[in-house]
Amino acid sequence: MLKLGSVRWRGKCSKHPGFDPRSDGRGAIRGGCEKCEALADIHDLHVRMLALMRTFVPPAPPKKRPETPDLQASLFGEE
Ligand SMILES: [Zn+2]
Repeated sequence: MLKLGSVRWRGKCSKHPGFDPRSDGRGAIRGGCEKCEALADIHDLHVRMLALMRTFVPPAPPKKRPETPDLQASLFGEE
């Protein structure tokens, strides 16, 4: 079993503090800056991790029949 807590993390390049890999993309990295490349790598891996988690346990579909027991609920909220 794998259990991950919530992660809040922020990183900023000291030379290019305005660089945001989410909105700017790798094309905005100037001079092959290692810090900005690292931020883009972290962002890419984070997106991939979320995609893998959603593949492993897909989000519960919207409830259409309230009388059906929600079996997915027991997978969450047990901290
Ligand atoms: Zn940079």
